Amino acid sequence: MQHIIDRFISYVTVDTESDPNSDTTPSTAKQWDLAHKLVEELKAIGMEDVTIDEHAYIMATLPSNVDYEVPVIGFISHFDTTPDFTGANIKPQIIKDYDGGDIVLNKEQDIILSPSYFKDLLQYKGQTIITTDGTTLLGADDKAGITEIITAMEYLIQHPEIKHGKIRVGFTPDEEIGRGAHKFDVAKFGAEWAYTMDGSQIGELEYENFNAAGAKITFKGKSVHPGYARGKMINSMLIANKFISRLPKEEVPEKTTGYEGFFHVTGISGSIEETTVQLIIRDHDSKKFEKRKKLVKKIADELNRKYQKQYGGDVAVAEVKDQYFNMREKVEPVMHIVDIAERAMRDLGITPIIKPIRGGTDGSQLSYMGLPCPNIFAGGHNFHGKYEYVPVESMQKAVEVIVRIAELTAEKK
Ligand SMILES: [Zn+2]
Repeated sequence: MQHIIDRFISYVTVDTESDPNSDTTPSTAKQWDLAHKLVEELKAIGMEDVTIDEHAYIMATLPSNVDYEVPVIGFISHFDTTPDFTGANIKPQIIKDYDGGDIVLNKEQDIILSPSYFKDLLQYKGQTIITTDGTTLLGADDKAGITEIITAMEYLIQHPEIKHGKIRVGFTPDEEIGRGAHKFDVAKFGAEWAYTMDGSQIGELEYENFNAAGAKITFKGKSVHPGYARGKMINSMLIANKFISRLPKEEVPEKTTGYEGFFHVTGISGSIEETTVQLIIRDHDSKKFEKRKKLVKKIADELNRKYQKQYGGDVAVAEVKDQYFNMREKVEPVMHIVDIAERAMRDLGITPIIKPIRGGTDGSQLSYMGLPCPNIFAGGHNFHGKYEYVPVESMQKAVEVIVRIAELTAEKK
């Protein structure tokens, strides 16, 4: 157990926060620090074809140890951490034999990780839990995934009696700012399918995510002295307000779950003459997704008709842009790749938790780039904040799942 803890801690203590305001890849130079370390480590455990490109994408190979054809599979994680919360000076705490009570993360600042609020903690009673010191995130998202993949490869190298085909490993920068897949060379990776080790609690297995679009609606108005404005002024902020009030009120993130889609107003800024509304559109179902995008345009059109005469042109311009799509469409035709992961978990006594992701993953982008890529648990909880934690036993189980998937893929039918 100490081995996996040491490896994990050696990764999370390297700051790799990504930056959405940067145009470079990786978005922050400090991501190279861990990238170089990972390259050395992949070589040290005996991986072959270890490469790192000019954008810090890392790939490596574990060659097949059987003399028959086995599909090439891959395992992928990201080494950046979210810019939503600081990832500098991480001081992990290790709680051995967790007693099911409150965990004091920081005495001075009275920051407590409590099972009365984070109920999931209770399922890890008796286990070893790694937490933060309450001042940073932990970075289990996704250094737990990196730890698990490297540990699983090391295990396979040390246990040649376990038969497997060729396995490819891929580590990416900048996943947290939505660019992890952008410069991923799918052809060079050369796998038939892959798994991102980037889910949360033990058992998670995901192959459905949102279809996603972003919309920017610009409203125009006319400013006139308020004392003489009757019949003349057009206040763009009030038109924007009308627009928002016509969106379905129950279909917002805070009132939806499971497969329910939503509209989410993420920003509004305005003056009398011009107001812009930013919103995001999410739906697992592609038909409903298209309908939602049409609704945005339809409401804008209605407002345009209403104000056409008075304004002398369009008062509302809606720009809708697709962001990513549900990977289900790409995974369903090759459902055996989900079945193998599910079977691997069941073989290990893990109950698979298969549910739609209410977001996107790098796997969804990769699936559309030709690499079908479901997502498997990495074990952590409460990502992107100071309450993030990971049970070591969950990481160990993830290692076993990777090994078992490798083994099942090479099984002779
Ligand atoms: Zn992640």
